[in-house]
Parts: sequence; C-alpha cells; structure tokens
Amino acid sequence: QAKDAGRNALRFFDAEMASAVRARMALEKDLREALPQGQLTLHYQLQVDGAGRATGAEVLLRWQHPQRGMVSPAAFIPLAEKTGLILPIGQWVLHAACVQLAAWAGQPETAQLTLAVNLSAQQLRQADFVAQVLQVLDETGANPQRLKLELTESMLVSNVEDAIEKMQALKARGVRFALDDFGTGYSSLAYLRRLPLDQLKIDQSFVRDVLGDPSAAALAQSIVALAQTMGLGVIAEGVETAEQREFLARVGCHAYQGYHFGRPVPLAEFEAQMQALRAAG
Ligand code: C2E
Ligand code: MG
Ligand code: MG
Ligand code: MG
Repeated sequence: QAKDAGRNALRFFDAEMASAVRARMALEKDLREALPQGQLTLHYQLQVDGAGRATGAEVLLRWQHPQRGMVSPAAFIPLAEKTGLILPIGQWVLHAACVQLAAWAGQPETAQLTLAVNLSAQQLRQADFVAQVLQVLDETGANPQRLKLELTESMLVSNVEDAIEKMQALKARGVRFALDDFGTGYSSLAYLRRLPLDQLKIDQSFVRDVLGDPSAAALAQSIVALAQTMGLGVIAEGVETAEQREFLARVGCHAYQGYHFGRPVPLAEFEAQMQALRAAG
C-alpha cells in the first residue's frame, strides 16, 4: 500500500517535471522567433531629480507574444541567458536604445536625457564587447555621454579585472556606468572602489521597506552615504510613494525612478510625459 503510494507520487512528480520541461522548451522555441518576428519592444521609464525634472530613462525590454501576451523579462531574460539568445537580443536593445538617443538629441524636451541600458554578464564577457558598443555608438550617432550601462554586482564577481578594463575603455569615450540592484549582491568594498562607476542604484527591495523596516531604512541610508564617500551618484529605484521619496531626500538621495513618477511605457507615451513635464515648467 505504502509502496504504491510512493510509486504514484513519483509518477506524479515525473509527469510534473516532464510538463515543466515541455513548457520551458516551448518558451525557448518561441523566444528564438521573438527577435526575427519583431515581437520585442522597449519601454521607457522616467528618472527624475530632486526638483522633479526629468534627467533620463531606463529602457526595459518587453516581449509581446502573439498568444501568451506580454511576457515579463523576469520570465524570459534568464532563459535568454541560458540559451545564449541574450547576445543577439542584448545587441538589438543597445542598438535600438542608441537610435533613440540620437533621435532625442534633436528635440529640446529630450536632448538632455540619459538612457540607461541593462546588460547581461554574457554581453560584458565577450572579447569584443567594447568594440561592439563603440560601433553601435558610431553607427547611430548617439552621444556616448548620454548612454548609461547598467551592471549588477553578480556580473562582476567572476572576472573583475576584465570587467574593469572594458569599463575603463568605454568610460574613456564618455559612456557611464551604474551598478543596478545595489545592496543585493556580493560587492566587497575593496573592489567596488576600483570599479569605474558613475552611479549606484539602490535596490527596490530596500526602497519598498524604508518606512516600515528600520534595517531597510538603515541600508538605504548607508548606500547613499557610501555613494557620497566614493564620489558617485545615487538613484533609488522602485519609488512608489511620496513618503518613500521624502525619506530618501532626507537621507540625501535626490534621484528617483519608480511608479510614483512614471511606469515603464512605450515610446510615444514616454515622449508625451516629457512634453507634459516641459509644459509644466
Ligand atoms: P531592473 O533593471 O532592476 O529594472 C527595474 C524593474 O523594476 C523593472 O522591471 C521595472 O518595471 C520595475 N519597476 C520600476 N519602478 C517600479 C516601482 O515603483 N515598483 C515596482 N514594484 N517595480 C518597479 P521589469 O521591466 O519587469 O524588468 C525586470 C528586470 O529584467 C530588470 O530589472 C532587468 O534586470 C531585466 N531587464 C529588463 N530589460 C532588460 C534588457 O534589455 N536586458 C537585460 N539584460 N535585462 C533586462
Ligand atoms: Mg536596471
Ligand atoms: Mg534594478
Ligand atoms: Mg534587476
């Protein structure tokens, strides 16, 4: 009896595993088609300064699947990384972002904006990564000083020397770097000091809890202090309320990104936001 139950549980587990594997394979097959079929698009999320002025945007990848609907990057970026598809996809994102930066340079309400692009570890690890970025800048005519590349701590643990070299080469051309999701990774202060960064991004998990959780508040405050000590900029991501913004301003953080200011939106909507902000003064 007990043996039968065990066997049934095992069979059930097998069936579940098999269906999970099938689902993954189906998603992977679709993901291979996403780029050639034109199903990938970019959304733009506003970044503001302490006075509420727009300073830039982050581009966030979206996959509009014909049957599944909008697939979250949390669901497909890991798969893109596992399959290597992140390389062509990441290259496409960078190119599209730089095309947009170049177009913005010609309009008064967007000319000063920076555009932040998320990178994956595999992209940075490519031997010709620097040359690729420079070529995209060259082809599109985007101003390198308006491009900000977002890295995460976990991307930097494996070969930090190589990463530093590549960052320095791009920084020499004006490209800026932000460390995303800061505080959630494994940064040692010793190597953080050596990275040619411009900005720390306070992870949204701390921002979410600054009012309710003293340790999150203390961490957010420490990150701001750390950035100041190291001469780096600091921006808070995931700011959803005026109260969170006020807390952050109190501890010295004057750059924000989050639903309180604007959700990630398609280009046309983002440009409408810029015009509205400009009209408001
Ligand atoms: P991330 O780079 O940390 O981006 C911030 C995420 O927080 C975005 O999720 C954004 O929509 C969300 N967010 C912004 N403001 C708020 C807020 O006030 N509240 C809450 N709850 N969430 C907020 P999204 O767009 O789903 O992207 C998730 C992650 O996927 C990104 O995290 C990034 O790691 C990755 N990703 C997105 N686009 C790309 C890309 O082009 N390339 C790579 N390699 N990764 C990307
Ligand atoms: Mg990011
Ligand atoms: Mg982040
Ligand atoms: Mg992230």
